[in-house]
Amino acid sequence: MQLRYETGLTGEEYVRAEAWRDARLERCPNHPDGGCSLSSHGTYSRKTPRGAKIARWYCRESRTTFNLLPDCLAARLPGTLDALETVVAHAERTRSLTATARALRSDAVEIPGAIRWVRRRVRLVRRLLTSVAELLPERFALGIAGLGPLRAHLDTGRALVELRRLLAPHLSVLPTPLGFRRHRDRVSEHPSGFQHKMGHDPPPSGA
Ligand SMILES: [Zn+2]
Repeated sequence: MQLRYETGLTGEEYVRAEAWRDARLERCPNHPDGGCSLSSHGTYSRKTPRGAKIARWYCRESRTTFNLLPDCLAARLPGTLDALETVVAHAERTRSLTATARALRSDAVEIPGAIRWVRRRVRLVRRLLTSVAELLPERFALGIAGLGPLRAHLDTGRALVELRRLLAPHLSVLPTPLGFRRHRDRVSEHPSGFQHKMGHDPPPSGA
């Protein structure tokens, strides 16, 4: 289970400080009144940012592992929320996936792959902002318009990290990479009308 590790550090600072060593889980989410054997359970490594580790805790009674994900890192997506925001903001500004891919993925061997890489991030953030606006419409209706208006609204260039903080009580119902809810069963929902050719999840209603 993913849990929020509250920290103002950037990804780089998190790695440099080895801040996962300071992550603590005081109370077991499954046994808030205590009485279980909750204990530290080592770490696991993330590929990006290079050197980053995630602290884990384990409750033997409920057989649950808790991953303490710092605010700077995306959930179930490589890298930081800041890096993700940079890509999507660039794509928004230039209105071009190709231009963004060329500008930000100069390391990519094939441009089609780099474009897919950008498109995936644009789509994830769009879906995410829609969920945020649905959750708190009075506050985040602007979010649907994109990262630019959201950044202005929140008065920050780190809007995703700020959202992680502001929406901390809702992370379990917000989709990754901001929240911790996996959206495997919603992959075919694309506001852009993109058809997910590999879709294999029939509607549960059986209609
Ligand atoms: Zn427990």
